Amino acid sequence: VTDPTKPTLVSGADTRRLLGPWQPPAGEVESEGTWGFADTAFTIDAEGRVLLTGNRYSLAGQPLPNLLPWMRGVMEVDLRADDRHAPHFPPAIPEPVRNAGLETELAGYLRPDQISLDGIQRLRRGHGHTQEEVYNLKHGHWKRIPDLVTFPESDEEVAQLVESAIRHGAVLIPYGGGTNVTDALRCPENEQRTIVSVDMKRMNRIRWIDPVNRLACIEAGAVGRHIVSQLAEHGLMMGHEPDSIEFSTLGGWIATRASGMKKNRYGNIEDIVMDLTAVTAHGALERRQVAPRESVGLEPRQWMFGSEGNLGIITSAVVKLFPLPEVQHYDSLLFKDFSSGVAFMYDLAQAGDWPASARLVDNVQFQFSMALKPASTGFKAWKSKLEKSVVTGVLGYNPNQMVACTLVFEGTREEVARQQALVKRLSKQHGGMPAGGENGARGYQLTFGIAYIRDFVLDHWILAESFETSVPWTQLEGLISRVKQRLLDEHAARKLPGKPFITARVTQIYDTGACVYFYFAYYYKGTPNPTAVYHELENAARDEILKCGGSLSHHHGIGKLRQGFLPQIASPATLAWQAAAKQALDPTNVFGVANQVAPLDASVTPHATDAVKSH
Ligand SMILES: Cc1cc2nc3c(=O)[nH]c(=O)nc-3n(C[C@H](O)[C@H](O)[C@H](O)COP(=O)(O)OP(=O)(O)OC[C@H]3O[C@@H](n4cnc5c(N)ncnc54)[C@H](O)[C@@H]3O)c2cc1C
Repeated sequence: VTDPTKPTLVSGADTRRLLGPWQPPAGEVESEGTWGFADTAFTIDAEGRVLLTGNRYSLAGQPLPNLLPWMRGVMEVDLRADDRHAPHFPPAIPEPVRNAGLETELAGYLRPDQISLDGIQRLRRGHGHTQEEVYNLKHGHWKRIPDLVTFPESDEEVAQLVESAIRHGAVLIPYGGGTNVTDALRCPENEQRTIVSVDMKRMNRIRWIDPVNRLACIEAGAVGRHIVSQLAEHGLMMGHEPDSIEFSTLGGWIATRASGMKKNRYGNIEDIVMDLTAVTAHGALERRQVAPRESVGLEPRQWMFGSEGNLGIITSAVVKLFPLPEVQHYDSLLFKDFSSGVAFMYDLAQAGDWPASARLVDNVQFQFSMALKPASTGFKAWKSKLEKSVVTGVLGYNPNQMVACTLVFEGTREEVARQQALVKRLSKQHGGMPAGGENGARGYQLTFGIAYIRDFVLDHWILAESFETSVPWTQLEGLISRVKQRLLDEHAARKLPGKPFITARVTQIYDTGACVYFYFAYYYKGTPNPTAVYHELENAARDEILKCGGSLSHHHGIGKLRQGFLPQIASPATLAWQAAAKQALDPTNVFGVANQVAPLDASVTPHATDAVKSH
């Protein structure tokens, strides 16, 4: 019997389905001064409890009475609901640097609604979501933002923009969803030329899908959540699901070399993208055919992965497709301590038959997720119940040491059943306890709601940010404990108030190691220049990461935030290649966003001379 949903191979058939123009659904208004949708924010209700507004997330609408008390305990500060560092958005907006010749030329081929000089629009295109950028939106000042925002609708318009910018001595900065966390969109402060933001959001179409050869051509400005919903209408998926999927774009994923939570099954972005088209200062990078694998010498299109706006504008990509999974299951496990959890993750990685996602959170993050539960099932109820069990010796788990692993299984029934059996067996070997599918699903859903918490805590004098790395298995636990200790020491040395909030999770597994993701927050009331202090502490943590054998970044990228560390990870010849390539490919520096510019003098960063020797 033939399955009508399964594609049939007919040799020589034209299997591409062309799709028409597409409009995003109404009512999806994004916030201008904070993360996410405009209708969603953490707030305090009349009884002093934390509450997530709106109805988009599972967390929304239920008071969270345990959150502030728990944070007070962990951070040892007097965190009061009524003690706010009131935000002042919008900040003062710098006057644009006008370029009359350029503006006249743009008006020749762009409609008025494709060009904006509006201050708020310009400001939004000049930042991502680093702690400093988020703080400066509320309390800081901006020396340089884009002078003009453009909204091209075709490859031809992008090509015209590049030609106009070169002719009139302007800078172009491609803009996707503005979700980067590397200062990648921050404008160079001393740039004298007119800076034009090229917002790709109107290039959001899926041009064609080919269900037989399992490919789709998607425009670079398409936002993750829209790609998911459109492909699902055809029973297909791309499988790239970063935690920022609601707002980040295909072009941004390629330009930052992003990684999604289900990379175990579908691959990282570089595994999924089969081809791309980019407009550069020398014209378009494009090829005639898309083959499953090629050996065609040096491949310039590969240089666009991780290019962070430095080399050109990605306009579309051909990506791999996967059928929607027959089944999807969530699960969760508890382990007595972090070491047992890591041993489980290692064995899972070595076994090879990986669930789509497996994440191991440390005890602080586990407690944090409990503190985010509504009253009836909250942290206190859970803790007292568990403590009783511990007292009676039934479980032997210590609430201050235990950790959790959340899992997502996707695939055919057989695949999922096989992977579940493997997980069960390995978990048992490491003393793991099943904690249920509901908790697993909740863990993944929390990811999207929690993204809003940073704006909330910032209004209560807490600066928070995440940073990540990848590290070989043997160095993983050592790296995590040394980074945590280094942050504690640096925090104490500066006599900052209370205790810092530091937590880690293992988010991605590989045969050779894993990705580790840290959250770090500190209470800054009374601290002058708090973002600079945060920056110092984060740099100290990064220094420790590199000393422990971790990478400069697993998926966030370099941008401007980490460029000072480049001489520590790459030889002078490597850096010289990169600089020479940029100079040759973009001689007028029309793509002048200035990411990944290593310090000219390698000695300006600590340990620079040990850089390559340590390998
Ligand atoms: C809450 C949160 C969760 C996150 N989770 C993840 C995660 O799970 N995995 C992950 O990898 N990252 C994650 N990130 C980081 C961020 O979402 C990624 O770096 C993402 O790929 C950026 O895409 P964007 O469209 O927002 O790009 P933007 O922020 O707009 O731009 C980033 C850089 O890419 C360049 N760029 C953008 N579009 C193009 C284009 N079309 N052509 C050329 N250059 C372009 C820009 O000039 C800039 O230099 C997260 C960030 C946040 C705030």
